[in-house]
Amino acid sequence: MLTSVQTEPGVAAPDPLLDSLLTQLDYFNTEQRQLVIQAYAFSQAAHQGQYRRSGEPYITHPVAVAGILADMKMDAQSLMAALLHDVIEDCLFTKENIAQEFGHTVADLVDGVSKISAINFESRKVQQAENFRKMVLAMTKDIRVILVKLSDRLHNMRTLQVLNPEKRRRIATESLEIYAPIANRLGMNNIRVEFEDLGFAALYPMRAPLIKKAVKKARGHRKELMHTIEAAIEQRLSQENLTARVIGREKHLYSIYQKMKTQRKSFSQIMDVYGFRIITDSVNMCYRILGAIHNLYKPIPGRFKDYIAIPKANGYQSLHTTLKGSSGVPIEIQVRTEEMDAMANNGIAAHWLYKSETQFNKETQSSRAREWLKGLLELQKSAGNSLEFIESVKIDLFPDEVYVFTPKGNILELPVGATAVDFAYTVHTDVGNRCIAARIDNRLSPLSVPLQSGQTVEIITTKNACPNPLWLSFAVTARARSSIRHALKHQQRSESIALGKTLLEKALQSFHQNWHAILPAKQKATLKELNLSTFDDLLEDIGLGNRMAPLIARRLIAEGDHMEDAAATTSHPLMIHGTEGLVIHFAKCCRPIPGDPIIGFLSPGKGMVIHLDACRNLSNELKEHPDKCLAVNWASPIEGEFLAGLRIEMENKRGVLANLATIISDSGANIESIHMGEKDARLSIIHAVLGVKHRVHLARVIKRLRAAQSAIKITRIKG
Ligand code: MN
Repeated sequence: MLTSVQTEPGVAAPDPLLDSLLTQLDYFNTEQRQLVIQAYAFSQAAHQGQYRRSGEPYITHPVAVAGILADMKMDAQSLMAALLHDVIEDCLFTKENIAQEFGHTVADLVDGVSKISAINFESRKVQQAENFRKMVLAMTKDIRVILVKLSDRLHNMRTLQVLNPEKRRRIATESLEIYAPIANRLGMNNIRVEFEDLGFAALYPMRAPLIKKAVKKARGHRKELMHTIEAAIEQRLSQENLTARVIGREKHLYSIYQKMKTQRKSFSQIMDVYGFRIITDSVNMCYRILGAIHNLYKPIPGRFKDYIAIPKANGYQSLHTTLKGSSGVPIEIQVRTEEMDAMANNGIAAHWLYKSETQFNKETQSSRAREWLKGLLELQKSAGNSLEFIESVKIDLFPDEVYVFTPKGNILELPVGATAVDFAYTVHTDVGNRCIAARIDNRLSPLSVPLQSGQTVEIITTKNACPNPLWLSFAVTARARSSIRHALKHQQRSESIALGKTLLEKALQSFHQNWHAILPAKQKATLKELNLSTFDDLLEDIGLGNRMAPLIARRLIAEGDHMEDAAATTSHPLMIHGTEGLVIHFAKCCRPIPGDPIIGFLSPGKGMVIHLDACRNLSNELKEHPDKCLAVNWASPIEGEFLAGLRIEMENKRGVLANLATIISDSGANIESIHMGEKDARLSIIHAVLGVKHRVHLARVIKRLRAAQSAIKITRIKG
């Protein structure tokens, strides 16, 4: 609808801005041009009334970004995304709006660019630049997002002058630390060089013009010699019938500055080198040209590098050699094919140009990035070199890690699939052990959700929290897993000791005794006999159900004192609160809940298992090990949620299950699990495990289920 004016040929008012972009798109067919025109119209309408700091209409910026991508001969979707890249951030449009108008791929690209733009590097530490670069790449599923973002940033760098000095410095620093290295990693040399020179000029407003002036001056001195050498090379090539372009080459300002700084060379030492690039049409020609050049001037030993046979990590290919000119001046020569030259200038972007003409829009872009990598891999294979070198690029593009922020802005690197629990343990073991919840991008989130690159994660802890055994089912880092296991073991020990103490105290009471009756000599002897080193070890053993409290009690007190009433054990039942932790379990066969008559059974190594006193499993155990059973009762009042099993017969109608779930949750119970089976065509049998407070609560749930007409028969499962 926004586009109607533009889509009717001949009707559209002349628009110089759009026209200049369209003249760049000679490599597009009509359909692709039309898509770009539509995106332009949408963006223009969206940015209507917005202006850049320079006073120009805002739309000039997205058009310029699209122009940078068109220079690299990028595809239509990238250009559309470039035109729309600020629409989500600055205007009132959503990703869905863009998806409706232009499809999901373009919407994903725009969204990806907005996400990267939203990261605030300013508040972060400089030392973490490397992690930022990784994060930006890890956030990107489609490599074109990076290309659009790099172009966006490049245009901002080109128009930096209108900003205030502080903002200028910030953007320049960011470009040098984050974006120039990313461009380099993707082999996009032209963009990297421009980032570096613009960033250098903005950061060093004194030094940069000085070097620029010196270069200009030196250029004047060098001019004659450059011409002489170039002519000599061209002449030799034509003598040998070798067709090639010879280009004089100058170092860019930032690299001169870097060389002066890091290699401690003087300006004239750096400028005294004469550089040329020779571009031809085949690999074979490259080597022949090299031979001819080595014949013309004497090569300096040790300076020849064959990056055609063994390309650089980002896919760069060329032959490099340094020669001694007639007056002794060093001459640096690069020889490469046109395709290698495009790769050297535009890196991964060149891949679109060279490999995509016949298959625009057919493949997903991530597979294109993979193809680029495959290309690198093949280069390496033919070179017979180790494959390690591309690992760095591969990891960057298809990372096995996620990068997330701490609330203070530090970046943590975690394996893919890592959760807030892994994050917490990576921060500190104590943070992990005490964590109870997480806030991800300021929103409360379950601990089990896998983290995404770019998120900010905050861990909420409380003093008395302890690890949950369930965490082991989703924590992925070795550190988190071993810390959880360790803490649980420790926790189980202290809980076992507490239970053992209670059990022993009860046993002493049944002999009408208390702790004072324990004789130190007997205690020592007992520990020795049982091969235990501390009294806590003994209590733990009792709590774990490995030893029977009455037997131990009898050993610990003086003979003769205790014999009256050994059978009185059941007079004061042990109170169950449900919060005892890892040493009290509720039997899965009968699932007792508060209000049910219960019996405790000491299960060796596990602690105490609570059964319904009518549980059939228990009655077998009772016959075999009566000494392991213990009178227990529910404490009152009792808090928490207890699981009960229900068997529900229902009419086989549409939506009964949803209906059932609604009733259950409306009555304040939680559904732990539901299994549905069919009895016959008319009836379904549902086995549900519900979390309830107590028997009365469960009765209320059952009553409400009965009231719903589809439930025919409901029974509680008791083993
Ligand atoms: Mn922008």
